[in-house]
Amino acid sequence: MGFKAKARKHRKDDGSDKKDKKQSRDQGELPCGINSCAKFADKSMGGRSLSLDNAIDMWGQGKFTESKGRVRVCKSCYRAWKKENKNEDAY
Ligand SMILES: [Zn+2]
Repeated sequence: MGFKAKARKHRKDDGSDKKDKKQSRDQGELPCGINSCAKFADKSMGGRSLSLDNAIDMWGQGKFTESKGRVRVCKSCYRAWKKENKNEDAY
């Protein structure tokens, strides 16, 4: 008694209950730290983080939001910064 019920329960658990969690996700969760930018800095979207000094150099003080001494930037802001700095040792 009770044996069958248990087995059944287990079976149900590895059934196909995984629906696609990531559907249309063009909205990120981490907003780009640059104030004039409305993009997202999520890692999955190519976001990077720059040091404060780097961000000040590029955008100027107060033009971005810092977080723990870093500035999260979206892919395109990072690219813009990289171009500006010709920093090629990232590869
Ligand atoms: Zn940006």
